[in-house]
Amino acid sequence: MRTVYLNGDYLPENEASVSIFDRGFLMADGVYEVTSVLGGKLIDFDGHAVRLQRSLDELDMRSPISKEDLLEVHRELVRVNEIDEGMIYLQITRGAPGDRDFVFPDPETTVPTIVLFTQSKPGLANSPAAQKGMKVISIDDIRWGRRDIKTVQLLYPSMGKMMAKKAGADDAWMIEDGFVTEGTSNNAYIVKGNKIITRGLSNDILHGITRAAVLRFAQEAQMEVEERNFTIDEAKAADEAFITSASTFVMPVVEIDGVALGEGVPGRVAPRLREIYLEESMKAAI
Ligand code: PMP
Repeated sequence: MRTVYLNGDYLPENEASVSIFDRGFLMADGVYEVTSVLGGKLIDFDGHAVRLQRSLDELDMRSPISKEDLLEVHRELVRVNEIDEGMIYLQITRGAPGDRDFVFPDPETTVPTIVLFTQSKPGLANSPAAQKGMKVISIDDIRWGRRDIKTVQLLYPSMGKMMAKKAGADDAWMIEDGFVTEGTSNNAYIVKGNKIITRGLSNDILHGITRAAVLRFAQEAQMEVEERNFTIDEAKAADEAFITSASTFVMPVVEIDGVALGEGVPGRVAPRLREIYLEESMKAAI
């Protein structure tokens, strides 16, 4: 049985419980982060901690923990649950005021709820899906306008994954005003020749921690990066496509809405970027 962390305590997972009045439960009033673990070490902990603080600030929510203590909790959970490859899920909500009200509770009397748990995923780095590549469909992006804040409002992304599954695909790319925003739980990229194209940062997409690292590594490897909007038709005509996220790293996309990209198998750029990303981020893991 897993050991989880809840509001300062390490507990067996079946003994950790949260109030029915918790605003995360009633209103999706909460933020989260997912940090991957490779070789028992945390990938890009700093990036996730900085984005967490930004999400909290944007929602006027107090952090119940310092960055140093947060690192300690991550490491302790990796240790006690013997995680070699996998993820750590972290969620902070505005807490449980003891009743339901749209108005934010007084932060002096209602403290945030903080939960962390581990997910063991042996073989995460050597995933067969990365060899094969994935299929995506396109769907309308009907999410709210602050996708840069990593909130737990994940119903539409979850519905998007189900739409993909029903269509025999692995994931969905979302489209707004004719342009691809991002995947349901990842950032989206296309490749043309030697150029990597991905939407620029704004409130329309999550500022992926993996995105930042991959674009940095790509530039260091003398690959050309262009941050701009692209349409789904441009994507279908691209040489390659891929996604990035903390739990999938870099994953080739080989089919969009039933249209095969290139030969319909992973190309040259995405697998190379995956290799570089895994190598460099494992070197920097803490
Ligand atoms: N976009 C969305 C909508 C996501 O949910 C995620 C993953 N949580 C990402 C992008 C990728 O972000 P990261 O690389 O930080 O995991």
